[in-house]
Amino acid sequence: MNLDKLKTTDGIDVAGKRVIVRADLNVPIKNGKVTDATRLERVVPGLKALSDRGAKVIVISHFGRPKGVDPELSLRPVAQTLQDLLGRPVKFGEDSIGAAAEAAVQSLSNGDIAVLENLRFHKGEEKNDPEFASALAKLGDVFVGDAFSCSHRAHASTEGITHHLPSYAGPLLMEEINALRTALEKPQRPTAALVGGAKVSTKIPVLTNLVAKVDKLIIGGGMANTFLQAAGTNVGKSLAEPEFAETAREILAKAKEKGCEIVLPVDAVIAREFKEGAASEVVAIDDVPADAMILDVGPKSVAHVTDVLAGTKTLLWNGPMGAFEISPFGDGTFAVARAAASLTKAGKLVSVAGGGDTVAALNAANVTDEFTYVSTAGGAFLEWLEGRELPGIAALAR
Ligand code: AMP
Repeated sequence: MNLDKLKTTDGIDVAGKRVIVRADLNVPIKNGKVTDATRLERVVPGLKALSDRGAKVIVISHFGRPKGVDPELSLRPVAQTLQDLLGRPVKFGEDSIGAAAEAAVQSLSNGDIAVLENLRFHKGEEKNDPEFASALAKLGDVFVGDAFSCSHRAHASTEGITHHLPSYAGPLLMEEINALRTALEKPQRPTAALVGGAKVSTKIPVLTNLVAKVDKLIIGGGMANTFLQAAGTNVGKSLAEPEFAETAREILAKAKEKGCEIVLPVDAVIAREFKEGAASEVVAIDDVPADAMILDVGPKSVAHVTDVLAGTKTLLWNGPMGAFEISPFGDGTFAVARAAASLTKAGKLVSVAGGGDTVAALNAANVTDEFTYVSTAGGAFLEWLEGRELPGIAALAR
C-alpha cells in the first residue's frame, strides 16, 4: 500500500455530482438523543465544503450492531443532530439502497446533503457483498472514504464500493493518516511509544511491531505486570498473564535486538481492593505484598517516564498506565498525560494518542486538546500500530 497515492477531491469538479461520503456517524445515543456529538462535529467541515462546491452529498454510515432492520438503531436522530450542527437542511433516506435511497438522492439539488439509513440493516454491508456494494455505488458518481475508524474492515461501504466508483480520501481520513505517519513512519527521533492497558495478550502484535520501530517502549498498566512477572518480580494479586511470560520475554529479546529501550514501572500504587477510594500505598516494584494488587504506576515511575519523554521528540500512546477509571488509580496516567501535554505545548514533542480508553483518560486529565493528535478510532488505530494494511485505506490508495 502506497499512502502517497491517496488523493482527495481537491481540484476535482464535484459540482452537480452525486458524492457518496462514507463517514463514521456511529455516535453514542440515549433515549433517541445523541449524547456525544464529537464525531459529528468533526464530519461537519468536510460535508460543508463539498456542499459549498455544489456537490449532491450523500452520507452513508453504519450505526451500532443491528441484526437486520432495527428501528432502535436508525440513523434518523443522528441525521437530525447533524442537521443542527451543519445549520443547513439534511434529508433522510429510509434505506441505504433501492427505491427509498434513490428517491432521497433524486430529491437533492446541487449543494444539498442527505443521510441514508444504517448500512448494517443489510447483511451485505459487513459481508462486503458485491451486489450490495454495487447497489450503493449506483447512488453516486464519486466516492469519498472518510471513516478511518472503519477502515480496518473490508465492508461494502469501505472497500467494495471503491471497485465501482472513482474513489478519494476524505479530509478526516487524511488528517488521521498524516498524524499517524508523522508518529510512526517518518517521525522525528528519538521516538517513544507508551503502551498500557489491561492485558499483554490483546496487544502482542502492537508490542511486537512497535519494538522494531520506536527507540523507547514505555510499558504501563496491567500489561506491565506480565513483563515484570516474566522477569521474576512478585506482582502479588495483580492482573497478570503468567501464560504470556514467554511472549513477554520474546518481546524483550526483540527489543534488545532492535535497540529499543524498554521502560517498565519502578514503583507502584497498590491496594487490596479494586474499588473507588480503596486504601492504597506506594511501594517499590520489588516490594509488592503477596496479597496486594498493582493498580497504578507510582510517582518515581511517573518521574522516570517524564524524563524519558523529555528526551524524545515523538510519542505514540495507546492504553492507560493504571486503572484510571477508579480514583485514585488514575493519578499516574493523568500525570504522564499532563507531562506529555506540556512538552507538546512547549513545541518539544509531537504527541499522538488513540484508542477508546486512552481518549477517555486524556479527557479526564483535561489535556486532549493539547496533544498533537488524538484519534478516536479504536480497532483501526490498533491495527495501524500493528503495522497492518487497512483494507479501507488500501482500497483508496489503489
Ligand atoms: P485496554 O483496553 O487494553 O487499553 O485496557 C484498558 C483497561 O485497563 C482500563 O479499563 C484500565 O482500568 C485497565 N487497567 C490498566 N491498568 C490496570 C491494572 N494495573 N490493573 C487492572 N486493570 C488495569
